[in-house]
Amino acid sequence: MLAELIDGKAIAAVIRAEVARDVAELMTRGVVPGLTVVLVGDDAASATYVSGKEKASRAAGMASATIRLPATTSQDELLAVVEQLNADRAVHGILVQMPLPSQIDPDTVIRHIVPHKDVDGFHPVNVGKLLIGHTDGFVSCTPAGVIELLVRSGVQMRGAEAVIIGRSNIVGKPMAALLMQGRSDATVTVCHSRTRDLAAHTRRADILIVAAGRAEMITGDMIKPGAVVIDVGMNRVPDATRALGTRLCGDVHFASAVNVASKITPVPGGVGPMTIAMLLKNTVRAAERSLH
Ligand code: NDP
Repeated sequence: MLAELIDGKAIAAVIRAEVARDVAELMTRGVVPGLTVVLVGDDAASATYVSGKEKASRAAGMASATIRLPATTSQDELLAVVEQLNADRAVHGILVQMPLPSQIDPDTVIRHIVPHKDVDGFHPVNVGKLLIGHTDGFVSCTPAGVIELLVRSGVQMRGAEAVIIGRSNIVGKPMAALLMQGRSDATVTVCHSRTRDLAAHTRRADILIVAAGRAEMITGDMIKPGAVVIDVGMNRVPDATRALGTRLCGDVHFASAVNVASKITPVPGGVGPMTIAMLLKNTVRAAERSLH
């Protein structure tokens, strides 16, 4: 039996419509949610992500701005820009696009953003709040988007064996914290590059979340029949049949996994669209909190 597709594009569209409604409501109270993205350098992929964020926040009715700085920007210059945004009452959310040029330490920049405007959810205060279960912080957008996909697809998380592949600060670790908490109540295993016998773990998973950045590493034979599979991976691989000579694929070998799983996210069109939707949602929450 073929797995049901979890349509991230459609679910993200619903969330964006909800956000647009919240923006309109905030405007009646005199607040226009404002998101400012800072882009340092001219990395093509980053520029594409940033313009996607700008377009989506405008479409939701927000005040959206992008500050573009040259690749030669010093760390102090970037910190000065962050400080200005921290102090600007019209800016509710600040996002510094990663990766940054080598002369700038990303952790120093993240720590410089005031936690109540850190809509990426990367500041240690927000990460700490997530870990101790406080809901007044911001959660990293990609794992927050995965939880929305599971909830809105009716996936039963309580007591489920959830296995995450990847332990990065932006995906794997916050994903684990979210899945083990009250709203989810899953039993969580986190795997990484030093995990022994990865397949033994993945085959136990009722919910398998893959965020390793390794193209098609999870094949159907590594998946428990009936499992829910969420593919966070975004990899560009050579493909002579495509006009560009490459194609986008996930960390899951879709063609074999779709015959084993009960539900699965495609790549593209699964987790990807959720990340921007959750960024908008975080920005609206930041604007709401500015009223209190
Ligand atoms: P990182 O490279 O920061 O982390 C990858 C993790 O996977 C590491 O913990 C690493 O282990 C683990 N890993 C790598 N290879 C293996 C392996 N063979 N077996 C088991 N574990 C392995 O990546 P990110 O977390 O930033 O991103 C992961 C993927 O998700 C990427 O493809 C990225 O493009 C995608 N992504 C997609 C987003 C979206 O919006 N859809 C947003 C963010 C990321 P170790 O710690 O031991 O090195």
